[in-house]
Amino acid sequence: MIQLSRFPIRTLKDAPKISDNKSTSYLLQAWYIRQEMAWVYNYLPLWLKVLKNIEQIVREEMNSIWAQELLLSSLWNKESWEKTGRWDTVDVLFKLEGSGNKEYALNPTHEEVVTPLMWEFIQSYKDLDSMAVYQFQTKFRNEARAKSWILRGREFIMKDLYSFHKNLEDLDIYFEEVRKAYVRVFDRLWIWQDTLYAFASGWAFSKYSYEFQTKLEIGEDNIYVCSDCWQAHNDEIVWEKFECVNCKSPKYEIIKTSEVGNIFKLWTKFSTAFGLNYLDEKNAKNEVVMWCYGIGISRLMWVIAEYMMDEKWLVWPESIAPASHYIIVIWEENLAKAIELAKDLEKSGKEVIIDDRFKTNFGQKAADADILWIPNRIIISPKTLELGWCELKWRLEQEGKIIKM
Ligand SMILES: [Zn+2]
Repeated sequence: MIQLSRFPIRTLKDAPKISDNKSTSYLLQAWYIRQEMAWVYNYLPLWLKVLKNIEQIVREEMNSIWAQELLLSSLWNKESWEKTGRWDTVDVLFKLEGSGNKEYALNPTHEEVVTPLMWEFIQSYKDLDSMAVYQFQTKFRNEARAKSWILRGREFIMKDLYSFHKNLEDLDIYFEEVRKAYVRVFDRLWIWQDTLYAFASGWAFSKYSYEFQTKLEIGEDNIYVCSDCWQAHNDEIVWEKFECVNCKSPKYEIIKTSEVGNIFKLWTKFSTAFGLNYLDEKNAKNEVVMWCYGIGISRLMWVIAEYMMDEKWLVWPESIAPASHYIIVIWEENLAKAIELAKDLEKSGKEVIIDDRFKTNFGQKAADADILWIPNRIIISPKTLELGWCELKWRLEQEGKIIKM
């Protein structure tokens, strides 16, 4: 439980104006984030709770498809990046000089780390029945001009999963498992109904990659949706004229979206660079086939905030709200009772914030409960407590009700 008396909470009376990105204004107003330099934000306790709640949903779904969580290094050596030819071709690679004139990269992606790591564990076809690893990791991009902290930040948090396969048939089976897991993640985060599965450029790896794009008025992407079969296409693959990759129709509509997930076919690019091979049933040497699957966790948080907010407040899906209950205690002598109630709620898996700032007036506490947007608000006052009751109000309802404690 969080007791607000133990942390200096400072909500702002008004939301500061930050371009057309209203959710960032609300997040600043509501003590979720603070900006310390251009496009760099610190996560305050409640924003961290949202992050951890999203991570947990993603973790549960990745574990359900037999992927193993690990944590790879942020810092990596120049030699590995040179092996794949990307030291000079990735223009946003953050390069650092260490002692002894040694050069390093702050990783924007982790193929150069995970491929040589798996070399030790993949020897034979028997090791490749289901081999996938993932992590939640901070990534870095040395952007010349950071566009916004979410859309094109220099530092962001990703879930990246890498899968390793004997051949394309095995890979296709696992790909389908991951795609379904992604749908479950976005469904649990309340955005699936407005999320499109789009074809995008495969860049250096293959003809297409795949993206999950959530409809958003201020989204950075234009998605072309086929009017006949509803297949979505990122504008990177729509050249002079539109032709649906699925049904060849020339008819489309354009929808503004923001990307929340992507899937790249890496084929054998990294296996070749690092000699990641396996011996098949006939003892012949083969290259391992790899795919990578990303979810931009910090970007996803912002997309959810922007997608769910209304004209006044942030609105959280209950599955990721920083707490489920906000308990306002009016008199100090009732604090023990509030803590008791919070412990009971926590036993049933709820997360609780207790507003025990006794030098703050009730109006301010009630306003903060609104601004932070915690789904349930409980008011404990001596009057109702005497009768063994408290007032509970669900955020989406106008009126509160009196319930037994
Ligand atoms: Zn079509």
